[in-house]
Amino acid sequence: MSSLPPAVSLLEPDEPPAFEVVNPEGRSSAVLLCDHASNLVPRRLARLGLYGEELSEHIGWDLGAARLSRRLSALLDAPLVLSGYSRLVIDCNRPLGSPTSIPQISGGVPIPGNAIDAAEAEARAEACFWPYHRAIRALLDARRDAGERTAVLCVHSFTPSLLGDDRPWHAAVLYGRDRRLAARFLEALRRDPALCVGDNEPYRITEGGDYSVPAHGEARGLPHVLLEIRQDGLASDEQVEAWAQRLAAIYREIDLSQLAAQG
Ligand SMILES: [Zn+2]
Repeated sequence: MSSLPPAVSLLEPDEPPAFEVVNPEGRSSAVLLCDHASNLVPRRLARLGLYGEELSEHIGWDLGAARLSRRLSALLDAPLVLSGYSRLVIDCNRPLGSPTSIPQISGGVPIPGNAIDAAEAEARAEACFWPYHRAIRALLDARRDAGERTAVLCVHSFTPSLLGDDRPWHAAVLYGRDRRLAARFLEALRRDPALCVGDNEPYRITEGGDYSVPAHGEARGLPHVLLEIRQDGLASDEQVEAWAQRLAAIYREIDLSQLAAQG
């Protein structure tokens, strides 16, 4: 892979932007983020050297997460920010420089195009990571300045099995040091005896392993949660709709002013 001269942007002018904002004026208190919405790779990166199906599989993106977050945005009338490029280009939910920010290997698959130097890593951050997070920051700043109450909901999906381990959870509720909003989702989801719901598993949020919740939720003191749905539950439009309806109903029952008082 040839390196780019510093003045050349990674994205060519006709390529899609690094983020999309849906319904920015939405009146819900929820702001939805979809860090792993897309499996696009900038043309200059030549598919990262992956010529099989890898980019359409879970290592390339969170299958179903973009569709789910768009439906949730519509049902709640909530603003939504989606990333525009694959997590394999640069992961929008990892701190820059962390080992999984630009992974050399993902889900056991080596990523040939990710053997890059610091200048190329910076070009990826400038092209794909920072524009997405600046858009989120601008949206949250505007809501703060307007005095609007806000909670941050990150929407992800996870693969039913990883490296041979089957995962029993249909959904997972993740949080770091602030459990206020997560506790409400956990309690509501667990009312359905048919659902197996992970409490900070199969993942948990950490400052070293996550970016969006620490940067946009914790650092601002905003109530937040990261919701993970298992991908075989988002395979059809009907399944996506059912999850969107369920999550929207749970969120509508939550009174953020009470949440803040308990925090
Ligand atoms: Zn994800």
